Amino acid sequence: MRERVKLPEIRPIPENFLKIVGAHLRNLKNIDITIPLERFTVISGLSGSGKTTLVKDVLVESLLKKHPIGCKNIEVPSIKPVLVDQDPIGRNPRSNPATYTKLSDIIRNSYSKATGLSISHFSFNTEEGACPTCKGMGAIETKMRYLPSTWITCSDCDGERFSDQILSKKVAFGEFDLSVSDFYKLSVEDALPLLSNSKYLSQNDKNKAKRIVWIKDIGIVKDNGSCKMPFQKTILRIKQKKINIKGIAIPGDPIHK
Ligand SMILES: [Zn+2]
Repeated sequence: MRERVKLPEIRPIPENFLKIVGAHLRNLKNIDITIPLERFTVISGLSGSGKTTLVKDVLVESLLKKHPIGCKNIEVPSIKPVLVDQDPIGRNPRSNPATYTKLSDIIRNSYSKATGLSISHFSFNTEEGACPTCKGMGAIETKMRYLPSTWITCSDCDGERFSDQILSKKVAFGEFDLSVSDFYKLSVEDALPLLSNSKYLSQNDKNKAKRIVWIKDIGIVKDNGSCKMPFQKTILRIKQKKINIKGIAIPGDPIHK
């Protein structure tokens, strides 16, 4: 990332700490460690020194089980641990940030309402909506014996993932006439006002749409300063090899392995 975080002039001194006493699991040699709470703390060390053991198997396990595991004692106020690791957030290569956030439901709702077609028509995971050639993947997989599979952009839908019938259904959002595929290509900044002002969405759906702001806020998506909705990350990964598309890669995403 090119942007820099501005360092605060005065850093508040942490008040609350958790203390792990005598951590001894695997490579850990009976260490004591004090970690400030409500702060961003980094555990660093040589490969194999036990960073993962300390965090995952001692700290998180002890907090979850509410008694010391792999250590003599753990002194901590009552907190709920949340482990965020590199495991894929979904097992299905068809899933993407729009499906995780359920934003795709909102987009499908509005297209269904505007066109009179069913909601499932606007999903590339259904027979009604998907490009019949690539079955909604936007690319065709060529399996190779000793090498990772190669994915070639589907020539029928040109990577758009939807059938011709669905791609021909354009819906007016303000001054733009967009197919559902066009919509998925919008930046987060551009998409939000279109959804907020859409006459095809209920107030409830409009409120839900606001959740996409966090995709931008936490910096998942970057594209030279603007934020792209990374809905087509499968395709993105394929294109990244050919041309320099700066998109996102979700760590641990199965398709990236
Ligand atoms: Zn296709």
